[in-house]
Amino acid sequence: MVTPSIQSKLPHIGPTIFTVMSSLAIQYKAINLGQGFPDYAMNPELVGLVNSYMRLGFNQYVHMNGLPALREVLSQKVFDLYQLGLNADTEITVTPGGTYAIYTALTTVLQPGDEVIIFEPAYDSYIPNVEINGAIPVLIPLTYPDYKIDWEKVKSAVTEKTKMIMLNSPHNPTGSVLSKEDIRELQNIVAGTKIFILSDEVYEHLIFDNKEHESILRYPDLYARSFVCFSFGKVFHCTGWKLGYCIAPEKIMTEFRKVHQFNCFTCNTPMQFALADFLKLKENYLGLGQFMQQKRDYFLGLMQQTKFKALPSHGSYFQLYNYEGISDENEKQFALRLTKDFGVATIPTSAFYKNEQDNKVLRFCFAKKETTLEEAVNRLIKM
Ligand code: PMP
Ligand code: GLN
Repeated sequence: MVTPSIQSKLPHIGPTIFTVMSSLAIQYKAINLGQGFPDYAMNPELVGLVNSYMRLGFNQYVHMNGLPALREVLSQKVFDLYQLGLNADTEITVTPGGTYAIYTALTTVLQPGDEVIIFEPAYDSYIPNVEINGAIPVLIPLTYPDYKIDWEKVKSAVTEKTKMIMLNSPHNPTGSVLSKEDIRELQNIVAGTKIFILSDEVYEHLIFDNKEHESILRYPDLYARSFVCFSFGKVFHCTGWKLGYCIAPEKIMTEFRKVHQFNCFTCNTPMQFALADFLKLKENYLGLGQFMQQKRDYFLGLMQQTKFKALPSHGSYFQLYNYEGISDENEKQFALRLTKDFGVATIPTSAFYKNEQDNKVLRFCFAKKETTLEEAVNRLIKM
């Protein structure tokens, strides 16, 4: 019998490191500090709102661009935080998660052969998302160990073919954040070019140490060429909801919506009604940085009892640790042994580099209950 065979669009790609490590965590009954998701309850009021909207019968399709009331409240939030006036009708689209928003933005602009500047370590979806569109990732390493952008390298990487620069702040996996100086460098580089910016700001509110989130939305000259992507899952401790949104100027958003409308078309209705209510209260998101910083600090304190060496994290869910003082295994081997023999799952940061660069650094997710962090550290002390 003749059956069709697929010429893979992603021939070198297997299941993501998050899937691999979470499966290993289940298999070896390890504490999962790998994949980034909280193990504590999300806000019960938000759950109650979804529940009541379901009961009230708000269960049919909402507008393909997202519930108008939710887009209105998001536009007010952006104005309050970043002083940017958005048209909620034309500049905001609700999406099934941040990853989808990023994929859709890339698919909207990329033509085969276009170059996209990506900083490594990079969130794992970026490079495959660029490649599946026939475009070419141009990889620039962040400096080690502080994971900053070397703007001289960016200047020399820009060519006639550069279609986009991808940014992520607060950064996954490193927790580094963009500074005002970074923004100035970016402004100088893109001024007078046709380069788009994709700014992944899913950890917008999870920023520590009195740092301010340098959203692209603060800078009208940059916003004019940008897609800015967000995730409710990361902000409201409900990663399984898979709901997010993209903000872009009207001309750009019109094209984004052409791709979006024939992919998922529209997103979960009761959750959008619930979020439209919940977001009206600023306290529901303004305290999140402090909440998460406490977790980071608690984890940092506990980890001082181990031989792991912390690298600075100023945002996100994540804290990197160097383990040179413990082992000379590579990151994947070490992460596997940690899961199997010591019962703690982490993420090897080499998974965020195309060439699997190995700095002997693991990523730990601290968005966990204190008891979870304590139990994990009790196991790590034994190393
Ligand atoms: N970007 C980064 C950097 C992330 O860490 C995540 C979280 N997985 C996302 C995007 C996507 O979030 P979502 O789960 O909403 O797709
Ligand atoms: N963003 C999450 C992380 O970095 C995981 C999302 C996923 O599993 N794709 O851990």
